[in-house]
Amino acid sequence: MHIVSGLGNVTVTASPKEKFREYLATQKMRLTPEREIIVDEVFDNHEHFDAEELSERLRSSGRKRVSRSTVYRTLESMESAGLIRKVARPNGSEIWEHDYGYPQHDHLICRKCGELQEFHNDEIKAILESVADKMGFFMDGHRLEVFGLCSECRRAPVRRHRKLDMI
Ligand SMILES: [Zn+2]
Ligand SMILES: [Zn+2]
Repeated sequence: MHIVSGLGNVTVTASPKEKFREYLATQKMRLTPEREIIVDEVFDNHEHFDAEELSERLRSSGRKRVSRSTVYRTLESMESAGLIRKVARPNGSEIWEHDYGYPQHDHLICRKCGELQEFHNDEIKAILESVADKMGFFMDGHRLEVFGLCSECRRAPVRRHRKLDMI
């Protein structure tokens, strides 16, 4: 899967690990070695990832064994902690991406090749804020997924004349 992202980073005061530790404490949970391995691996690079791939990567990295169910549960906790969020795919599946330390952005998602392009647009935010405002709603975030065809996939295929067409 090809991902276009170049939005840079937002400066944050606490590291993702610290933020996760704080969140877990509010849930009377600990940052176990397994959870620490997962949060480290996730924040190693900014990539959209799926839980299965992450689970596979951890298995092959030869570190402490982290079960698949621990990976799935930990990702859900990281979502509640505001560290990561889900992005829908055209095929109905979901992948994860960083939320903490990464600027607010939306996605253009190609139905054909699955390419995910990130963009930021202040006008969209302003429109949504005015909609929310009219309804007496306080908005503190949004997510927008735009489905369609990327420029590559929109290009018409080169037409080849088959012999039959020539007759
Ligand atoms: Zn495409
Ligand atoms: Zn994104």
